[in-house]
Amino acid sequence: MKSDKIALFDLDGTLADYDGQLLKDLQHIASSYEPPPVLYADIPYLEARRHVITSQVGWWLKLGKFQLGWDLLEAAKEIGYSISVLTKGPSRKHAAWAEKIEWCNHHLAGYVDGVTITHDKGLVYGAILVDDWPDYAKRWLEHRPRGLVIMPASGHNEGFTHPNVVRYDGTNLDEVKAQMLARFNS
Ligand SMILES: [Mg+2]
Repeated sequence: MKSDKIALFDLDGTLADYDGQLLKDLQHIASSYEPPPVLYADIPYLEARRHVITSQVGWWLKLGKFQLGWDLLEAAKEIGYSISVLTKGPSRKHAAWAEKIEWCNHHLAGYVDGVTITHDKGLVYGAILVDDWPDYAKRWLEHRPRGLVIMPASGHNEGFTHPNVVRYDGTNLDEVKAQMLARFNS
């Protein structure tokens, strides 16, 4: 019987290595006269390049797996959660929506029971959410006092704390599994 306890998994920065591929591509086109590229610093020329890079047909499809997210995916599956992907669709890049579905079909067949691409993650039900982005975690938790968010560690969520959020950095899998199991049994 399929569990009614749903674990929602984000793609970029959780199951898919968005940051790694983006940084590689930014480095590839950087000039030796400029500082090394950094992510999420709101630097206009880097943001413009990011937009051009991620608008390429096939870009989202070639993202590799992000290991921290996959550790959590295996843990959720082992506990017995029904697994669903919950990812944000880039508003101006419609091809990315199709490529995200294709990525899921390619990498996640046998793992997931559903895929939701949305503009607002807060609308989607689940017992737990695995997501690297603090704003999405806060939005999703707004109306879910019992919700649990597992946050794969990244530079952009370093130092973020919230009573319903546990950060996973590759060293505390036992602690995270225990919380996932407690939520599953509650
Ligand atoms: Mg993400």
